[in-house]
Amino acid sequence: SETTVIVGAGHAAGMLTTTLIQKKYDGKIVIVGEEAHLPYQRPPLSKAYLSGEVELSSLYLKPQETYDKAGVTLSLDTRVEAIDRDSRELTLADGSGLTYDNLVLATGSQVRRIPVPGADLDGIHYLRTIADVDALRPALTAGQRLVIVGGGYIGLEVAAVAAKLGVSVTVLETEGRVMARVTGETISRYFERKHREAGVDLRTGTRVVAFEAGDDGQVSGVTCDDGSTVPADLVLVSIGIQPETTLAEAAGLPCDDGILVDEYTRTDDPHILAIGDCTRHRNLYFDQPVRLESVANAVDQARTAAATLTGGDQPYNAAPWFWSNQYDLRLQMVGLSEGHDATAIRGNPDDDAFAVFYLKQGKLVAVDAVNMPPAFMAGKKLVGARAAVEPATLIDLDVDLKSIM
Ligand code: FAD
Repeated sequence: SETTVIVGAGHAAGMLTTTLIQKKYDGKIVIVGEEAHLPYQRPPLSKAYLSGEVELSSLYLKPQETYDKAGVTLSLDTRVEAIDRDSRELTLADGSGLTYDNLVLATGSQVRRIPVPGADLDGIHYLRTIADVDALRPALTAGQRLVIVGGGYIGLEVAAVAAKLGVSVTVLETEGRVMARVTGETISRYFERKHREAGVDLRTGTRVVAFEAGDDGQVSGVTCDDGSTVPADLVLVSIGIQPETTLAEAAGLPCDDGILVDEYTRTDDPHILAIGDCTRHRNLYFDQPVRLESVANAVDQARTAAATLTGGDQPYNAAPWFWSNQYDLRLQMVGLSEGHDATAIRGNPDDDAFAVFYLKQGKLVAVDAVNMPPAFMAGKKLVGARAAVEPATLIDLDVDLKSIM
């Protein structure tokens, strides 16, 4: 029978494998992953795993037995170095070869490094993997001074965990507000207030220009473009990611800030699919190809790829969604608010339970909900259907949003 090789053993790879097992895929499945871990979920890395509330084993999507029972071969701690598309063969880090009939690239993304002087000093951390958390967590002790570069959701989640541990936290954000790339002004301002109330020194409109060294090669401060230096015992840089397209580009597959795939997760090469963070893909929900960095996208594309590999017809057609946990606040987001021309707020930020609805030409295009899961759930359906809803209806707490579709 045929062999499907999946490169990368992350969230998308794990979901694809379990979906293929469920579908009783009769080919052989081989997963090759660079990290030393079974496919795992990353969201807890900046939340409950960082705070120590959950164990390592709870991160794994499936235990080893699931793969063993299904006859899946897992080659972990193994990097794929090259793809030879003519002979359909991969070169692994140890020089050995691995042939495939179908190849699925699920290589995820890489953290963006900060290109300023001092960036190589000890005590400067990034956060993408279990190994990264295991290096960072022991340093998060009460009284330590942590400077977080980047006020995106990962930086803010770490700020919340660290503040709770008694760490003295400063967040430096270049944009005028936090999470500017993923949410609107109301939500940004609300979260800025919550962080400040928790004792975080949050500075927006501030660009980092250098890291200062202490005596021992250890970072001792972070210098900003206004000339100020924030003292630091440790630093977390969380300024975004870039899709991991190295292999695909070297193999000549079309890439444009992501491996280009269609709504069936197919690349240009009939033997190669790509899924998850590493792709710029077609999703029938959008007019343009998009690149998304979320579990929902990894899962949905994995399901689509499983259908494609088993001869099914299941184009990707879903509104994107996402969540973030900071303190006891659960932020859930669906849709893309870009280009909205009106907003409506349900509930009251002062009650720590509210939702912002974004409308474009009368149609609901996105919802950001804080501690209001029913508004998010209803919003997911309404956004998916691009429903036209009156703002007055959306903000009326007497209206059960489930009932309006
Ligand atoms: P990954 O899970 O990154 O897996 C890719 C794997 O491929 C990696 O293990 C990598 O080492 C491996 N690899 C790459 N190149 C090679 C190669 N050449 N050979 C072998 N292996 C290779 N999303 C949400 O929706 N909600 C959240 O709350 C959320 N929180 C997050 C918090 C953190 C700290 C992080 C880092 C991410 C978070 N995300 C969240 C994003 C989410 O985890 C990603 O979107 C998701 O992991 C993407 O899955 P993936 O399989 O595409 O990539």
